[in-house]
Amino acid sequence: MENTMNIGYAALTKGAQLTRFIYKAPPLKQNEVRIAITHCGLCGTDIQGIDNYYQIVDYPFVPGHEIVGIITEAGSAVSPSRIGERVGVGWQGRSCMQCEWCLKGDVHLCMEVAENGSWTPYGGFSSSITVEDGFAYPLPPEIPSEVAAVLMCAGITVYTALKKFYASPSLNIGIIGIGGLGHLAITFAKAMGYKVTAISSSPHKCEEALTLGADWFIDSSDRAALGKMEFSFDLLFVTAHGGFVWERMLKILKKKGKVVLLGFPDINVDSVDLVAHELSIEGSFVGNQNNMRDMLQFAQKHAIRPMIEVMPMSHVNEAIKRLKQNQAHYRIVLQNDF
Ligand SMILES: [Zn+2]
Ligand SMILES: [Zn+2]
Repeated sequence: MENTMNIGYAALTKGAQLTRFIYKAPPLKQNEVRIAITHCGLCGTDIQGIDNYYQIVDYPFVPGHEIVGIITEAGSAVSPSRIGERVGVGWQGRSCMQCEWCLKGDVHLCMEVAENGSWTPYGGFSSSITVEDGFAYPLPPEIPSEVAAVLMCAGITVYTALKKFYASPSLNIGIIGIGGLGHLAITFAKAMGYKVTAISSSPHKCEEALTLGADWFIDSSDRAALGKMEFSFDLLFVTAHGGFVWERMLKILKKKGKVVLLGFPDINVDSVDLVAHELSIEGSFVGNQNNMRDMLQFAQKHAIRPMIEVMPMSHVNEAIKRLKQNQAHYRIVLQNDF
């Protein structure tokens, strides 16, 4: 079984279109499971990976880290009863279990994060993947596979950040950007009881943001509208890569307010408000294994349903093009059609 051949979609060089790529599946270690992939979400990070934005990928590079599938093989240290189980896998497929962060339970901060990503050696735009069994999360039966896929990266990212800073349901929060991450953040934030304002430079997204559960909408390109909101927000969650002016955003935070970055935007801030108002800027990166299990239970309980377009995996380049052109509505999930 260790010679199973995989069919994936790989960028053979930096920035290249993906091409069909046949490779030998890695041998199964004793604490690992092999998963036949049925669905894989397309995340902005996959596109940045293709472009080697993070300087952590090797080519051929098979992207994909919002994975759902069925366990087909279990290593000798894994219960064989897991075979046949429907599971989800996110950004991380293993951990060193020796570094400071793994020992504290924050395995997502593992010092060997690149080696332990589910992209290594090859990611989820493929027929199968091999990961440690603790990173193959059982999925509640009520959550459809295409929804579960999106939860494995976008879902865990927004859930963990919203949960981490939750102090009171009366906190006034803003979610900047209504895309793959942002639309899901609105949904989770509403289910947690926050007062939610969606902030976007695309006014045509107003109605949909309100449908998703936002209480208010602000057009971030409308200077007057932002001006009226000075000192209004306890927390701002940034899911957008651009399309907003940092200086104006800091002014709508209350004193001691916090900006939480969920994506990787360029940062351009004036230190005056930051210091004089005791503001802070903090990053939040996916989540640990407990967060993942809690998030899946929460999503099931509150019937969290992201807006998804399902496309055949063989159309992956078209899907990438749609996401790059900001046309995805709001998250694309590739369904395996090998
Ligand atoms: Zn992602
Ligand atoms: Zn570690």
